[in-house]
Amino acid sequence: MMMLRIKILSIIILSFVSFTTISARQHSISSIPDPKKQGQDYFVSNPDGILSSSEVAELNQIAKQIEATGKVEFAIVVINDFTQEDDDFTFAYALFNAWGIGKKDADNGLLLLVAKDRRRYRFITGSGIEGLLPDIKLKQIGERVLVPAFKEGNYGEGIVNAASVIEKTLGSPDGIAELNTLIPREKTFIEKNSDHLLATLATILAYFGLFKLFKRFKTDAQTSPKKKNDGLEKNVMIGCGIIFFGIFFGVFAASLFQINIIEPKNLPWTIAAVASLFLTIQINTRRRAIKKEHTDVSSYLAAVKSYLAKTALLVPFAPLTIIGILKQYFKNRSLSKQLVAPEGFQHYQRIDRSLNKDGKPFLNSGQIKEERLEVRTYQIWKGSKADEVQIVAWPGEKSADFSECEKCHFSTMTQPKLKTITQATYSSAGQAERYQSCEFCNNRVSLGLVVLAKLVRTTSSGSSSSSSSSSSSSSGSWGGGRSSGGGAGGSW
Ligand SMILES: [Zn+2]
Repeated sequence: MMMLRIKILSIIILSFVSFTTISARQHSISSIPDPKKQGQDYFVSNPDGILSSSEVAELNQIAKQIEATGKVEFAIVVINDFTQEDDDFTFAYALFNAWGIGKKDADNGLLLLVAKDRRRYRFITGSGIEGLLPDIKLKQIGERVLVPAFKEGNYGEGIVNAASVIEKTLGSPDGIAELNTLIPREKTFIEKNSDHLLATLATILAYFGLFKLFKRFKTDAQTSPKKKNDGLEKNVMIGCGIIFFGIFFGVFAASLFQINIIEPKNLPWTIAAVASLFLTIQINTRRRAIKKEHTDVSSYLAAVKSYLAKTALLVPFAPLTIIGILKQYFKNRSLSKQLVAPEGFQHYQRIDRSLNKDGKPFLNSGQIKEERLEVRTYQIWKGSKADEVQIVAWPGEKSADFSECEKCHFSTMTQPKLKTITQATYSSAGQAERYQSCEFCNNRVSLGLVVLAKLVRTTSSGSSSSSSSSSSSSSGSWGGGRSSGGGAGGSW
């Protein structure tokens, strides 16, 4: 909603700005000053001051040289924009013929029109020099000389360089062959992005190596391969969720800061971010799985500590694992307390629960149920004599999910649940019973009836947002030459 408001506001501001500046920035053919009015040695029309005076002087000099060869009469027009309804060809072509660029019989005129705000350039050639300066050559000059400079905002530099290339081309006996040596060859995609592509490759290889390394830590830590599927589905769900949110926020942040995530420059970072997310999920999944493989708290702590020590190497490449590691650190600290003999029974020995899973004969069936539900863990301490037994209860992972049953007094009472008695419909409300039940003795406690709200039909009202795209627009004597529409143009 906020974004939409900002968007609407910016559209309003933009259209206001473009509306107020239309008259100032958009040229008609008649509003472009004809340089020939200043004298025969003037070729450049620069009414909006886009070129510096030294650039104009340099261009006039080059155009004068070009004219001296007798081959071409070159006009250069650099403006912010031209009248809205025209495209660049129509406008430039009309300007060419209105001024009559080129000698009357030779039709050797050449016009370069640059419309800065519209990001368009256009060459128009007189019909007499289409062979001398074919459209394709002008297109090459445009794409390789004008466009790269214009993209950097160097308008004067681009035009001066292009004019020099044209001058040299016309000055050599084999002008067209010369052209190829003068204009820089366009770099291929790979040449332009070789650094970024190398960085991308390096990132891929680095993470590939890290995954390999992780796999080794993982198999090292895997003491018992049983129950591998336990919790796998849950972990896959969590993993998918994290990836989904990671990508969602990544794309959101990228669009917010206007970053193209698949641009070669950003590709190594994108890959690193996605790979690091995957590595984080794998590290966390494995860490959680260790729990399932150890019944005894002592062997669990040893396994998880050794795992963390190894994966510490990977933390710089998967920085989000820090969250899980910190949680594990505090968990380990509270679990280590279970290894300390109770006050006054320092000489007692703790029973290794991996050897005695049910804690028989010391734990009763209620306590075993509590351990199965992970509400509690019991540490059993034995003295030297047969009747010297101390049982210490510790809160389990799910201690918050259960409460004490009033009947059997074990912590095996579920959280309140709802049982539907009558379904709610669109016309009437329904009814349900709120209750708790004991997982051990099946004691059932009713907490009363609740009303289920009547169903409501949701009407999806499609909100259409129309965005008005405001296209802001605005483009001596010559010898009287004509053009039949040759030339080339492009944008940057
Ligand atoms: Zn009970």
